[in-house]
Amino acid sequence: MKYIGAHVSISGGVENAPLNANKIGATAFGLFVKNQRQWEAKPFTQKNIDDFKNNCAKFGFNPKYILPHDGYLINLGHPEKEPLEKSRMAFLDEMQRCEQLGLDRLNFHPGSHLGKTSEEDCLKTIAESINISLDKTKGVTAVIENTAGQGSNLGHTFEQIKYIIDNVDDKSRVGVCIDTCHAYSAGYDIKTSDGFKNTFAKFDELIGFKYLKGIHLNDTKKAYGSRVDRHDSLGKGVLGIEPFKMLMNDPRFDDIPIILETPDQDIWPEEIKMLYGFLKT
Ligand SMILES: [Zn+2]
Ligand SMILES: [Zn+2]
Repeated sequence: MKYIGAHVSISGGVENAPLNANKIGATAFGLFVKNQRQWEAKPFTQKNIDDFKNNCAKFGFNPKYILPHDGYLINLGHPEKEPLEKSRMAFLDEMQRCEQLGLDRLNFHPGSHLGKTSEEDCLKTIAESINISLDKTKGVTAVIENTAGQGSNLGHTFEQIKYIIDNVDDKSRVGVCIDTCHAYSAGYDIKTSDGFKNTFAKFDELIGFKYLKGIHLNDTKKAYGSRVDRHDSLGKGVLGIEPFKMLMNDPRFDDIPIILETPDQDIWPEEIKMLYGFLKT
């Protein structure tokens, strides 16, 4: 089965996320577990936690189909000691927040070398950051998102993601989220039927579908291989609608959260409906 939703707002409290997801006809959702642009956040109250869990149960959202996203300030591959420590603390806090909410995965952008260290060193630092946070938490999988490769962001090739996974000690709690916009911008041609086939064959060969813990479903405003991260609404960007039809009818994407991060929130209900309409019965 396909579980589809969007990255919804937690404004007014984390417990509002399942309500917002239900309103748009979602069967899955993404969320931040704290303000994504600040380092500090108030801890959850017991009421936040209870209400979140109750609202999820009420609207039928299983944690398996909820994909939290980490904050934008975190860089788990930071080349300098102090900012790296700060990032690791913040990431651990987010992993623990997921634990408190009963969620089983946290999606994150791997990290950037900022031109101050080699790619390989940065990838090793990222893996070490994951090891540290997995050591201190239980039941939450660290989900590496592929990036568009903007600036010095790593994780734009499957090889880099594989390298990180290879250096993670507990392979049972590391996973991958593929963002369709990022993949295309990074040079994976998922637009055509052959390109789609080849890209995911390569993903399976290098990493393996067993690691796939989520999808970010976005069209892109930028050209193939541009390495620029600009999402667009499904079918309105450079990718067009075909890749989304292919994905909906591919059982390898069953039973994971498929999350829209498309820019026009007003049409999320239509986008979700359209995706379900692509299913060939
Ligand atoms: Zn994404
Ligand atoms: Zn993006």
